[in-house]
Amino acid sequence: MQNNTTTYTLAKLQTYDECPQKYKLCYIDRVHIVEPISQTKTGNNLHNIINYYLKGNEVTKLVEALPKADKLLWYNFKNSDVKNYKVIESEYPFNLKIDNYWLTGRIDALFEFDENYIILDWKTGSSFKPENVKFQTSFYLLCMYEILRLKKLIKMPEELSLQYLNLAANSRINIPFTQELYMQYRKQLLDIITNINENTNFYCNKTPACKQCKYYRACPYI
Ligand code: SF4
Repeated sequence: MQNNTTTYTLAKLQTYDECPQKYKLCYIDRVHIVEPISQTKTGNNLHNIINYYLKGNEVTKLVEALPKADKLLWYNFKNSDVKNYKVIESEYPFNLKIDNYWLTGRIDALFEFDENYIILDWKTGSSFKPENVKFQTSFYLLCMYEILRLKKLIKMPEELSLQYLNLAANSRINIPFTQELYMQYRKQLLDIITNINENTNFYCNKTPACKQCKYYRACPYI
């Protein structure tokens, strides 16, 4: 049982949404699985350079030191429509309370364009698909909307959107936000937190995707 000072991160809520048993293995049993780091390293290097650049710093020498494949990703970022947007925040950490629950997270960047706000999330992996990050999409839109509304910067969900920049494919996917989606995402999130708090039986969502689950070898249901 969690208490109302528990903080819920995107990773925790997303893990429970994928499979309650996975949540148990990760956050209750604390089974530690070591993952390969090569893809992570590419993403981190670029994230650091883009963040540094968006904060107004000179990055020419850092870009020169990148491997050829990463340089291409960098130029795809630099030449994207983002150059027309006004930077509000880069690597923006947030904390907010919805109902009695604390949520915490970090977005890649927040921009303003044409009197609306845009959450930007850039992806470096070639296999990125927006349907695989639906929970992340709802979490970011819901949280940033609540924050911008509290700051009196926006009034309606329609004034906010999320864009995924797929640097490997040099493409951009825009996800609009609406009042209807706001209600749906809020309910989804609060339902998951309620389930985490009440669930003593972390059932499994055994699916064909289990073979890609990092807890596959530790899972008692397999
Ligand atoms: S292997 Fe499947 S059932 Fe087991 S924790 Fe992973 S997703 Fe859940």
